[in-house]
Amino acid sequence: MADYSKMIEGLRRVFNSGITKSYEWRKKQLDGMLKLLEENRDKIAQGLKEDLHKSSLEAAVYEIDFCRNDLIETMNNLKDWMKPEKVKKGLLNIMDTAYIQREPYGVALVMGAWNYPIQITVLPVLGAIAAGNCVVLKPSELAASTAKILEELIPKYLDNDCVKVVNGGIPETTALLKERFDYIFYTGNTMVGKIIMKAAAEYLTPVTLELGGKSPVYVDENSDLNLVARRVTWGKLVNAGQTCIAPDYVMCKKELQEKLVEECKKAIDEYYPDPAKSEDYCRIINERHLNRVKKLIEGSGKVVIGGQVEEGEKYVSPTVLTDCKATDPVMMEEVFGPVLPIMPVNSAEEAIDFINKGEKPLAMYIFAKDHAVAQKFLDNTSSGGFVFNDTMMHAGLMSLPFGGVGGSGMGGYHGFHTFDTFCHKRSVLERKHGGEAMIAIRYPPYTQKKGSI
Ligand code: NAD
Repeated sequence: MADYSKMIEGLRRVFNSGITKSYEWRKKQLDGMLKLLEENRDKIAQGLKEDLHKSSLEAAVYEIDFCRNDLIETMNNLKDWMKPEKVKKGLLNIMDTAYIQREPYGVALVMGAWNYPIQITVLPVLGAIAAGNCVVLKPSELAASTAKILEELIPKYLDNDCVKVVNGGIPETTALLKERFDYIFYTGNTMVGKIIMKAAAEYLTPVTLELGGKSPVYVDENSDLNLVARRVTWGKLVNAGQTCIAPDYVMCKKELQEKLVEECKKAIDEYYPDPAKSEDYCRIINERHLNRVKKLIEGSGKVVIGGQVEEGEKYVSPTVLTDCKATDPVMMEEVFGPVLPIMPVNSAEEAIDFINKGEKPLAMYIFAKDHAVAQKFLDNTSSGGFVFNDTMMHAGLMSLPFGGVGGSGMGGYHGFHTFDTFCHKRSVLERKHGGEAMIAIRYPPYTQKKGSI
């Protein structure tokens, strides 16, 4: 294992030299990142194919171009974002200058998960360098091909003295976490999120935790079930359900179930007529996760669509389960696979109670024709994101901070919010030499005369 103390010491020395703070350095790194993505599209797509059997379209839309768009937004606005932000002043400060100065923290650690191994690593890294930090990137070892590509390409396109890639598994991460960082940005599961936060506490390092959980769908009785099925199965089956904001499970009245399943079947047959042979349908990342998903299917509800698992192929067919109960295994953990459980409820209120008994979800999806139904969920629950009449689309809107709350994480990113995450917001007040008489009241002794002014 490399000497991480030495590596971080070196990064801190470079950071302290001030080189990363200039607009020119930041811009050059962002240009490099853009070039990295543009000149290596095929290579990256190939890595994603090897890791997840990702189609070239999903590789482009959800990984390469997703990052590219964010990069371009950042490059176009960086000069403005770096400017001091003037703030409102009171009478007492009328003569002063007051502003927020966004400054880099120093050396940031970015740790990624395997499910969108490019998007989840490149976005925080670009935000960290846009903010003027040095960065250590630790990609997920489970997406081994993409991790290798990042390790090979990043030193070629970015300033090697300021941005480092560390590949490895739990021993490497554990060793890295013993070091002092100035910011930690972690994406992954909630259990490891707690390990990260404990390690960060040692140095009081601020963290962003992009975690997971069960993102519910509620379908109102007056919904267009064809539309619901199309949008929910799309969200569930992209990346074979291995998406942090995938619609995890559906709640609806029992009488809707049959029709909803019928519509889901139509949608799935249209999207993936032969999923096992489809170039568009992803595989489960490894055997361990495959067996986990298999157990969820076997122990829960009734299989009404799919249910096939092929171990050597890491393949799970698009699956729908009906009549699931809160105590079924599939309802007790994040599914993270192409399996959609439907749990009947008697009312929106019952669905709200169920959501509120669990951890706060990363996303929530409400389908209804009546806006009042969505408003009821909005007013009476909490979640990282909320979408009315669709799934997952909030993640593509850069102006919305993307992130969780409670058990699904803390902090938000994308677009300006990523830059902002990696900046300390320093409060600056500049006073004039004059005006001493006007503030004399603040100085002791606090005489009767002063008090009555
Ligand atoms: P993972 O197993 O690849 O772990 C993520 C990172 O944690 C890796 O870099 C890994 O090396 C490190 N790690 C793993 N175990 C560790 C340990 N014991 N100690 C220290 N470090 C350790 O990925 P994962 O956790 O399986 O990712 C899937 C989870 O991530 C899901 O819950 C999903 O919802 C969540 N996720 C969240 C977001 C988001 O933006 N909120 C995005 C993607 C995934």
